[in-house]
Formats: sequence, C-alpha cells, structure tokens
Amino acid sequence: MGGRSNKSNVVQLDPEEIDRIETEVGEIMAAVPARIWDGRSLPVPIDLIASEVYGLKIREVSQDQMKEATGEVSIEGTISGLLLTSIGEIWVYDWEAMHEVWGATRRRFTIGHELGHFVMHQTGKPAIYCRVSEADEGQEGVHTTYPIPEAEANSFSAALLMPADLVRAEIGSGKVDENRLLSLRELFEASDKAMRRRVRAVQAIG
Ligand SMILES: [Zn+2]
Repeated sequence: MGGRSNKSNVVQLDPEEIDRIETEVGEIMAAVPARIWDGRSLPVPIDLIASEVYGLKIREVSQDQMKEATGEVSIEGTISGLLLTSIGEIWVYDWEAMHEVWGATRRRFTIGHELGHFVMHQTGKPAIYCRVSEADEGQEGVHTTYPIPEAEANSFSAALLMPADLVRAEIGSGKVDENRLLSLRELFEASDKAMRRRVRAVQAIG
C-alpha cells in the first residue's frame, strides 16, 4: 500500500497507487452489466451499482445511530458514512444527504467512498469503516490527516463517479474555464472541489 505524508501531514497517494486504483475502477466499470449502466450515461448510477453489483443496501440514518454503531470506537467529528460489512449496508448521514445545496453530491461521494472500502479494504471482520466530514473532498483549505485507506477510498470514489475516459471525452484538450467546470459538475453530479480535483487528476493521467 503506497502513500506518504507531505509537510502539512496530508497523505498523498503515490502515483503507482493512483494508477492501481484507476485500473481497478476501470475494470469494475467495464464489468457493470448493461442493464445497470451503459458505460456512457451520466451521472453514474451509484445507488444501482452499490445495490445491484455489490448487493449493498443504502440507508440514510441519524448521527446518533451512526455513533452508536461504531460502539467502542470513539470517532471525533461528524461521521458522513459507514460501511457495515456484516449486514451489507452503507449508512449515509441523513442530515448531510438531505442538505438542499450540497446534499446530493455529498451523498454520492460518500457512497463511492464506502464502496472503495468495500472493494479494497475488507479484512474479513464485520468491520465498520467510516468517513469523517473534516476529511472531506468538499472543504477547500482544510488540512486534515488522511489515513491512507481514507485517501484511497476518496480516489476510488472520484474514479467511479467521474470515470477518467468520460471526463477526458468532455474536456478534450481545451482549457477548462469556470463555465465548463460548472457544466461538468452538473453532468457528473459532483461538488466543486471534487470536480476540480478530478479534472486535474485526469489531465495528469494524460
Ligand atoms: Zn473511510
């Protein structure tokens, strides 16, 4: 597992690690049955992929329920999502999911993140993986220490929701100005920060 910390202590994944995740997500997306997704239509049907491909049920629950589910483990800050491997459920914090402005995009990113844990980080335990809002893709300028699995799950989510080939087809070789970015956000149903980061990542992949 790659990864290193830079000066500000934010984990950045090694390029090889990012490539590995891109490849893995590319294979997953190519294997999604056509009745679920045609490989082109946007936004990517994340709910259907979670339920039909992985058999995971998505529930929107209160913060109290989430904290209770983590049991002994004390989690500081707000929990956005949980993966309950033992019962095959992804829990999304209901208040965030219902937020009028950014609820829908946050909910999608959280589900993608938990799917990343499901695919990459299962240990066979009924383990719960969680995602804390402070370490979120949507907050510009917040320097948080990302444990490597969290950074991996974020990369997985971005690759799944904003597939590299579809982003590349949209942006071409032209400059991505603010208007273009806005239309990309609407197309992929992504937050501003997640879309910006993804455009940069796709341009870097080349
Ligand atoms: Zn996580």
